[in-house]
Amino acid sequence: MNHPRITIAIDGYSSCGKSTMAKELARRIGYIYIDSGAMYRAVTLYCLENNLIINNIVQREALAQVMNNIKITFATNPNTNKQETYLNGICVEKEIRTMRVSDCVSLVSQIDFVREALVAQQRAMGNNKGIVMDGRDISTAVFPEAELKIYVTASARVRAERRAAEMENADIDDIERNIAMRDEMDINREISPLRKADDAIELDNSHMSIAEQDAWLEARYQEVIDRIK
Ligand code: C5P
Repeated sequence: MNHPRITIAIDGYSSCGKSTMAKELARRIGYIYIDSGAMYRAVTLYCLENNLIINNIVQREALAQVMNNIKITFATNPNTNKQETYLNGICVEKEIRTMRVSDCVSLVSQIDFVREALVAQQRAMGNNKGIVMDGRDISTAVFPEAELKIYVTASARVRAERRAAEMENADIDDIERNIAMRDEMDINREISPLRKADDAIELDNSHMSIAEQDAWLEARYQEVIDRIK
């Protein structure tokens, strides 16, 4: 049976497990998955590699001039079957997850023209629906018309523990500090701050296993499909 294809927007705090559940749902239902945070991270890596962040200050004018040269794409690694992020044709999946990038990404993501450029690309990717995208402003700014919107939260410590488990040689206190700093900046920034959309369904997954949250999300998806089919 042919299901209608919808847009699924998943927003929430740093390291709350959004990507894990978004990816798994996309795999199960055959949708495209886009990690919008990876795009902000790739722009940040470009800035770091090109001396566009000096003493924690992003060089706005210089970045504006080269913004059109920053091309971000995704491709699936055939060996691992995992999606990887490319910056100007080079795989940067590992580099964008480092603490160096995590420490600066919320500075870069505050910049109006960076957001405009990335939001335009994100909308183009979702043109044909059949997409699961996660981030901070997906249900409020990128796809405000999405049929399914989820807002994920979890306690800061739980999130730091989950992120530490994914990283090599990670110091959990450093990670928790970084998460708290990014939350604070992402919630308080001027343009498209992280907030729950009025029509989003909230999920606190602090005490859920991955299997439980996957089942929860699939049930929410099924409810929407049953309603509109
Ligand atoms: O999702 P992730 O933690 O990888 O995102 C990294 C950063 O990118 C966030 O802390 C936030 O500053 C920025 N971001 C954003 N809007 C999005 C996704 C991520 O501002 N839609």
